[in-house]
Amino acid sequence: MQYTTLAKRTSAVRCGLAIILLTLLLGIALPSNARVLKRGMRGNDVASLQVLLLDLGYKVVVDGVFGPKTESLVKAIQQSMGLRVDGLVGQQTITVLNQLRQGVVRYTVQSGDNLTRLAQLYDTTVSNIIKYNDLANPDSIRPGQVLHIPTTSLAVLSRFFANQPKFLWPVQGRMSSGYGYRIHPVTKVRHFHGGIDIAVPQGTQVRASAAGRVVRAGAMGNYGLGVVIDHGGGYTTWYGHNSQILVRVGDVVQQGQAIALSGRTGLATGPHLDFRIKIGDQTIDPLELLF
Ligand SMILES: [Zn+2]
Repeated sequence: MQYTTLAKRTSAVRCGLAIILLTLLLGIALPSNARVLKRGMRGNDVASLQVLLLDLGYKVVVDGVFGPKTESLVKAIQQSMGLRVDGLVGQQTITVLNQLRQGVVRYTVQSGDNLTRLAQLYDTTVSNIIKYNDLANPDSIRPGQVLHIPTTSLAVLSRFFANQPKFLWPVQGRMSSGYGYRIHPVTKVRHFHGGIDIAVPQGTQVRASAAGRVVRAGAMGNYGLGVVIDHGGGYTTWYGHNSQILVRVGDVVQQGQAIALSGRTGLATGPHLDFRIKIGDQTIDPLELLF
């Protein structure tokens, strides 16, 4: 009798504890701080994200406002970590950023990879990779599999980010319109401008911002005579409103090679180059990557 009461009470206490624990967990995991962060938002969670980016060595102002700079950095990191490049910071992106801060790189296995090679590449050991990924059979990694590779080396992390192509200005000139929302100079409608406009005289040589392969060359509607170059790694650069195109689809171009002559074809008030950098299908502020 006594025993039964005690047992009941114990289980009631256990149940109560479980509920409290569950409430705590849900309280932490679910409400306000689990919102997906995106451009235009502000708040303490945005500030935390910016602190994280700062910790990773990016120059970012911690003002709690999710502006174009923060979004560009997020997209660049998503690209290099093999995530969907959407500029949205949900749980997956936060997890990856935290891992990165702890020196853990997310890697998608390519065909021909083996752990010995990866350990060399990331300056770590095979046993570290096995341990971190809980691999039952280290001989059977397969292409497409995602591994988390812990590295102790800051040099490795910076080399990892250094894989981003280096972009040069395609023309020299005054930037007449920046990236972001603006009133369109022709239509007078507020819209998102996915590139930068650089005012240059008609016929100025437009140069490839980085080496790559031409994937589009020709009339592109309001964008006028345009060229698109694929640089690998998901990066493309876009050059619009030209008067003449000097390359063809399939051409391999070197950085700095003349690919077009500037103009005012398409929807343009005067001769200028509309220059864009995209990661996947997302534009990024070119000023973040140009130098
Ligand atoms: Zn433009």
